[in-house]
Amino acid sequence: MSLPEVTQTYRDPHHYPKGIAFLDDQYVPMNQAKVSVLDYGFLHSDATYDVVHVWKGAFFRLDLHLDRFFAGLEKLHMAIPYDRDEITEILQNCVALSGHRDAYVELICTRGNSPDFSRDPRDAINRFMAFAIPFGSVANKDQMDRGLHLAISDTVRIPPSSVDPSIKNYHWLDLVQGLYDAYEKGAETTLLVNGHGNIAEGPGFNIFCVKDGVVTTPDSGVLLGITRQTVFDLCAELGITCEATQISRDKLIAADEIFISSTAGGVMPVTRLNDYAVGGGQLGPIYTQVHRLYWDKHNDPAWSLRVRYE
Ligand code: PLP
Repeated sequence: MSLPEVTQTYRDPHHYPKGIAFLDDQYVPMNQAKVSVLDYGFLHSDATYDVVHVWKGAFFRLDLHLDRFFAGLEKLHMAIPYDRDEITEILQNCVALSGHRDAYVELICTRGNSPDFSRDPRDAINRFMAFAIPFGSVANKDQMDRGLHLAISDTVRIPPSSVDPSIKNYHWLDLVQGLYDAYEKGAETTLLVNGHGNIAEGPGFNIFCVKDGVVTTPDSGVLLGITRQTVFDLCAELGITCEATQISRDKLIAADEIFISSTAGGVMPVTRLNDYAVGGGQLGPIYTQVHRLYWDKHNDPAWSLRVRYE
């Protein structure tokens, strides 16, 4: 089967990452991937999305991302005219047309807009879109080599009683506030707390704490990250205990190792928390094992799906 055509009306290659988007049933360059200002996804953050990555020409754990995306649609009472196979086809086409071997692939459903600007969400026509751009990471190369510097913010992550965190969402004002708090403290990124003052999550990542050989991660008020799930799976394979529980600030500060997880970068090390060096400022042995196995698994056909580039 041949690839569909890219609709192109003008070029502006410098203002957007190189890539291809699918919206309104067309494949377009990223500079043409535009949504209406009347879309409630934009006006009210009324949307859900997912991000899957492609590494060396293969999607990683796409099935889990699709499960989470479709579950989010159902919880938000949204409907799209595509099933799982059709979405897989759209994502395949976006990546193949972009030509990227390593890609950041996002699928989005917004509430859309209603013809008469009705405030009733049931009147809106839901809108699906997707795009593939070059792979991006929370941590850059230097940070991967030496470990990130995180600062715990006093900003409370939006509580699960307000917004269900199992629905991947764009409620990021708290995370952005946390980032500015972190920059003021000279740190590179942030960790928000939950309503009890315990650790929640950061902008685009889940957090893991290692103490006496046991790995823990917050059990509530966080996105159930696919990479978080992957860390559970990898730890099981490595014979390392990994549990979800409440993590206090003090427990995190006393950790032997800290690492974060995200589709945008995988498993990434943290060697500085607030003003403290974590694990003597060195990358830890458990982080190193999990990180290695995470990337090895990208070659396992059970966990990956090859992109059809032609
Ligand atoms: N937490 C938040 C708030 C996120 O936005 C993300 C990813 O974007 C994550 C955690 C990590 O989730 P995943 O591993 O599925 O990328």
